[in-house]
Amino acid sequence: MEQEPKIIRAPFSSQQVADLNFYQQSGVFHEFTCGTQGVHPGIQKALIATEEGWKCTDTSCDYRQDWAHAFMADRPFVENQIRSIHELVNPSRKTLASSQEITP
Ligand SMILES: [Zn+2]
Repeated sequence: MEQEPKIIRAPFSSQQVADLNFYQQSGVFHEFTCGTQGVHPGIQKALIATEEGWKCTDTSCDYRQDWAHAFMADRPFVENQIRSIHELVNPSRKTLASSQEITP
């Protein structure tokens, strides 16, 4: 079986738009950012998904992108990743409580 990364292309469905923007705002993944060089000095402008494709969050910038990785619109996958990262960063309350009981 080939392990080629899957790509989805605009136009995106409204569901894909919602899921792609959920991914962008997850804070867990490196988000898609504007690919125009030198337009936003010192800032990595995030992209926002629309049904026509990605647009730069800076409305004066005309950067557009028409593809995304399929996993970015895979909501259960993204939610799983968020959960596992949060568990790494903030151990669950239960784990924390029991470790405090053990620690003098
Ligand atoms: Zn831009």
